[in-house]
Amino acid sequence: MTVQEKSFRPARRIGAIGVSEILKIGAAAQRLKREGRPVIVLGAGEPDFDTPDHVKAAAEAAIRAGQTKYTILDGTMELKAAIADKFRRENGLHYESCEITAGAGAKQVIHNAFMATLSPGDEVILAAPYWTSYADMVKIADGVPVDVLCREDNGFRLDAEDLERAITPRTRWLLLNSPSNPTGAAYSAAQLRPILDVLMRHPQVWLMADDIYEHLTYDGAPFVTAAALEPGLKPRTLTVNGVSKAYAMTGWRVGYGGGPRELIAAMAVVQSQSTTNPSSVSQAAAIAALSGPQDILIGRREAFQRRRDLVVDALNAIDGVSCRRPEGAFYTFASCAGLIGRRTHDGMQIDSDSAFCRYLLERHDVAVVPGSCFGLAPYFRLSYATSDQNLRDALDRIANACRELS
Ligand code: PMP
Repeated sequence: MTVQEKSFRPARRIGAIGVSEILKIGAAAQRLKREGRPVIVLGAGEPDFDTPDHVKAAAEAAIRAGQTKYTILDGTMELKAAIADKFRRENGLHYESCEITAGAGAKQVIHNAFMATLSPGDEVILAAPYWTSYADMVKIADGVPVDVLCREDNGFRLDAEDLERAITPRTRWLLLNSPSNPTGAAYSAAQLRPILDVLMRHPQVWLMADDIYEHLTYDGAPFVTAAALEPGLKPRTLTVNGVSKAYAMTGWRVGYGGGPRELIAAMAVVQSQSTTNPSSVSQAAAIAALSGPQDILIGRREAFQRRRDLVVDALNAIDGVSCRRPEGAFYTFASCAGLIGRRTHDGMQIDSDSAFCRYLLERHDVAVVPGSCFGLAPYFRLSYATSDQNLRDALDRIANACRELS
């Protein structure tokens, strides 16, 4: 061990954050692949489609036009105009440019918001199961994540009474993600209403609406965002979105938010002393995505809906597994309760969802993520953002793996 290694001491806020189980599974899957095993990874949080050609062309043109310098800190005026137009056109939400921010992904926007608003001990209510990064982002900002469990028999949606009970004088935010990673659950207007009614009674609680999966809703269900449904909440709502999932642009790193100008200004302060503007070239690409032809979204949504049905039907045909049909995103969150207590033929006991996922990976070359990583067991999350053929092969393997248990 070198002297430098000995004297390294991580900050307290980092110590509170464990190495994510998801990353461990990803690393194990990569190791097996390197050893030559035909592992199918159903863990991806990104569409397998390509970024549209007109978006790539806009980025190339931006480079040639010399748009390669610093831009306005939280987005060019052109990008903010494209975002304002998107909010108006698709969500019926009106934001001025001073009420709009752009960062390096929705993730940075959420991080900025927590850093700008949380003081030590401030609480953020998270509807569990949730995207694991939420809790860690709250902790990095010295806040306290408060989990409220969303039961499967409530469609993995937050119950208004449970929310009311979780609110304390320290509550600063409720973070709501519809459609949800990891469950795919989405809220209709009628399902969202009682939650917003609770928030209307607690003026100290702000709402962060993570709409990143907005364009991935199925069966013709209209997407609903909170600030449009309840204009009374708009002055304390941050509506978060981005181009990653809708336009298959995860690597470009552009996300955005709309909210009250004081919040947006405070978020700009955080961004000004960390990353400054999102990539100038990516901003040009995001303008093309938001303002260009939108028909591409329809075909992709149909492809995802077909895959969802393929996955849900195949999972429900497996003895010991059950899966509700999610309304959106590209994940299924299936129960493996019926498999707990069974044994592999060489005597390994399936005593948890983690054990089941380990067994799937190590013996059957399929990587999925245990529900316990997201705060609800015994479940597993399967991402269907991969080809139909990969999905069919993986589901055959999962079915075989379950049949071998006794
Ligand atoms: N919110 C949710 C629920 C997500 O699943 C993700 C990506 N996994 C993000 C936000 C972040 O998206 P990005 O930073 O790529 O815009």
